Amino acid sequence: MTKYDQLAYLDNAATTPMPDSVLQVIDNYYQTQKVNVHRGMYRLANEVTQQYEHVRQQVAQFIHAPNASDVVFTSGATDALNLVAFGYGTTHLHADDEIIISVMEHHANLVPWQQVAAMTGSKLRVVDITPDGQIDMVALQKLLNKHTKIVSLTLVSNVLGTYTDMRPIAEAAHKVGAVLMVDAAQAVAQMAIDVQAMGADFLAFSGHKMFGPTGIGVLYGRTDLLADMTPTRFGGEMIDQVTQQTATFQPAPLKFEAGTPNIAGVLGLGAAIDYILQIGYPKISQIDHELVDYLMKGLSQIPAVTIYGSPLATDHRAVVSFNVGKVHAHDVATILDAAGVAVRAGHHCAEPLMTFLGTESVVRVSVSFENKLSEIDQLLTGIQQVKELLHE
Ligand code: PMP
Repeated sequence: MTKYDQLAYLDNAATTPMPDSVLQVIDNYYQTQKVNVHRGMYRLANEVTQQYEHVRQQVAQFIHAPNASDVVFTSGATDALNLVAFGYGTTHLHADDEIIISVMEHHANLVPWQQVAAMTGSKLRVVDITPDGQIDMVALQKLLNKHTKIVSLTLVSNVLGTYTDMRPIAEAAHKVGAVLMVDAAQAVAQMAIDVQAMGADFLAFSGHKMFGPTGIGVLYGRTDLLADMTPTRFGGEMIDQVTQQTATFQPAPLKFEAGTPNIAGVLGLGAAIDYILQIGYPKISQIDHELVDYLMKGLSQIPAVTIYGSPLATDHRAVVSFNVGKVHAHDVATILDAAGVAVRAGHHCAEPLMTFLGTESVVRVSVSFENKLSEIDQLLTGIQQVKELLHE
């Protein structure tokens, strides 16, 4: 029995549990074939390098990238977003250029842009959302202009669960000559990703939010953009030739993967993709939706509960945030913990969104297809206890 089995684990947006198939692949690497990649001449090293590069192809297929070389392994979504901010932003942004993000971005898709804006003299523009948590498209259209060079938005909000259709945004961004970066960290466990269909120029996600291990993530970049990007970390394996004073670099993706990569993480990511595809996104989204529907119905019957974003369950992709009367979200989460329910409470690395919503913190429930309706019942019972204990 694992610790998860004793919990109603409703914090999947923070990280998802790992299935045995993923654990086995990682275990097998460490137990039986822990060698480095891209270096050895012996057969085992070649074998593991092939497995590693096979996962790159698998990721490319998974997100419908045209080439495996468009897939860069990073340590996570944060790392991937930083790579674009510092590898692309610093060389392509100049004074008076503009970057557009939204008010519901995770700090990982905000703070790097703040830094790059300060370094380059460019301006960070922030588009608001509508009361139901959608990007305000009218406001976005007004912000887009010939100075806009980068638009960087989340595909699914880690607080509101809102999904943003990127196609019209990609079209509008491209029309003014900007590139679109998509933060898919919170989307990838719930929906199929097609970078070409959505018109993404860059896309980032993490393995640990899609049943894979921590410390591994992906940056997808359009071939020409990756070629035009400078590495941000330098060292072994990313170079072509080195003299005492100079160095030339490998083409993408290797120029972005300096040093020994997270080999076990990459292999684990491959197994996580297999796991998701074996179950299939249609089934995953059907179960996610049933759970969220049930949760929204239950929450809306508790008068003290305020749900943030849309009142429609269909608008919440596996994530619902709320507060219970005036009770601090941390107190709600602590009482729920005593009731055996794991949720997250706080600002969820989205402080500007908290300000926009007029609160300091919210309680966030995030489901995966592995959850059961009985776990939602356990949560709803726990919220009744919050009300009784704190007289809300
Ligand atoms: N973007 C979003 C929308 C997220 O939810 C997260 C993780 N909470 C990140 C980016 C950053 O992901 P990581 O911490 O795995 O790098």
